[in-house]
Amino acid sequence: MNFQGKERPFYTVNDFYQQHFGQKVFKVSLNGNFTCPNKDGTLSTQGCLYCSESGSGDFAGNPKDDLQTQFNDIFQTMKQKWPTGKAIAYFQANTNTYAPLPILKELFESALSLSPDIVGLAIATRPDCLGEEIVDYLKELSYKTSLFVELGLQTIHEKTASWLNRGHDLNCFDDAIKRLSGSKIYVVAHIINGLPYESKDDMLATIQHLNTLDIHGVKIHMLHIMKHTVMAQDYLSTPFPILSLVEYADIVASQIAILRKDIVVYRVTGDAPKELLIEPVWSLKKFVVQNEIDKLLRSRSHYQGVHYYD
Ligand code: SF4
Repeated sequence: MNFQGKERPFYTVNDFYQQHFGQKVFKVSLNGNFTCPNKDGTLSTQGCLYCSESGSGDFAGNPKDDLQTQFNDIFQTMKQKWPTGKAIAYFQANTNTYAPLPILKELFESALSLSPDIVGLAIATRPDCLGEEIVDYLKELSYKTSLFVELGLQTIHEKTASWLNRGHDLNCFDDAIKRLSGSKIYVVAHIINGLPYESKDDMLATIQHLNTLDIHGVKIHMLHIMKHTVMAQDYLSTPFPILSLVEYADIVASQIAILRKDIVVYRVTGDAPKELLIEPVWSLKKFVVQNEIDKLLRSRSHYQGVHYYD
């Protein structure tokens, strides 16, 4: 794809959906009622310091409802905006491969049969929750539907990851990517910009590392400080620097300029419920953030991969 002169000068998820599905596709976030080894005491009871009460799935369906009800509620709302759109069922909250294989099979396969409008499945998980038999099953599943596995990395820097209480290291992430590669699974890495004490160069280094891996996409988020999280307590007692919109746009535009051209950019900003967000308040204006990044890229005559090197 030629990004030069394109309104959004990078490989957007809508570009990919259009190429792959030939039409508008949106995600419907379902809640499979999972927990997480980083919260249930297996690795830790604290979780990642930024993890919200919902397990970073604040827009997912209500776990008290069955999957069909969750799907119908969200799908009907999305259909009002995109009447002919198709859906990807998205298991977002907590760690969605953290259960015995028969339970995962039952859940994922019943999700696929919720509606003929479902054209794919997206599963968010941790790299240390992808044992051999789960990876084998996911590979099998990727021949039945378009399968996206979303893997949290957040940062390549061990000092930050350890402070965040991620509970796994970079080797674990790289190893999971290797074991998922060579299949039809679309692997999407999640990263966070604005983690305390990381410099712009540190954040660019995280992208440089992703460039070396067999991944299909990246989701770029900013750090959200949300109420009722461990990070909120830390921040309120000892505030650390938060990126301004100008700094954030500069970092993301610079990351896109060095990003490998075939990596799909799923997000350049995050969503947070207004009532839970402490900082950065500017991130609530999602379209402003996106516009700032796009504008900056265009003003620099930059586009995805313009400064990529092997
Ligand atoms: S891995 Fe995800 S669900 Fe688990 S504690 Fe971290 S952010 Fe929360």
